Amino acid sequence: MKIQVSLIPEEGRRLQYTLEGDWYREMLQKGGAIEFRIRPAEVSVAIHKVLDAVTLDIQVETALDLGCGRCLEPFELPVRGGFRYTLVPSRGPEEQKEELSDEDISFGYYQDDLIDLDALVFEQILLQVPMKPLCAETCRGLCTQCGANLNAGSCGCKPGAVDSRLDALRNFKAKKQT
Ligand SMILES: [Zn+2]
Ligand SMILES: [Zn+2]
Repeated sequence: MKIQVSLIPEEGRRLQYTLEGDWYREMLQKGGAIEFRIRPAEVSVAIHKVLDAVTLDIQVETALDLGCGRCLEPFELPVRGGFRYTLVPSRGPEEQKEELSDEDISFGYYQDDLIDLDALVFEQILLQVPMKPLCAETCRGLCTQCGANLNAGSCGCKPGAVDSRLDALRNFKAKKQT
């Protein structure tokens, strides 16, 4: 969805739409890849314009399909949030670089009378992807010896039985104390 700034009426505008399919693939830098899938996203936007400054209040509700960083199983992470952007027309290429942002408000620039709403939505969704996604805080991960998913039950391996590096460390500490 692109918004043409000159067509925003004085009283503002409200939009509601759904982003689905591969819409976000084209947002990626060329050659870039992401390790998640975005489910259909419900977007609602309130747009206000004062002179040529445009304020967007955007609500997004969607879910991501991610892989757990511990047990590697796929899981769904709900994502919802509201954020506000204030955009002013760009006067030159140098301005694109500096982007001030606050916790809740982001400032930015638009070019050629157009605001790419989907790009802002994508940016906000990206910000909510955890560095190390976990299917649950209590995820027990995989057995380091046999690779079994420990959430499904114990695999029967004896903890520490194989890891000789730990034994070496223990021996080293024991020697140091004597
Ligand atoms: Zn997990
Ligand atoms: Zn095991």
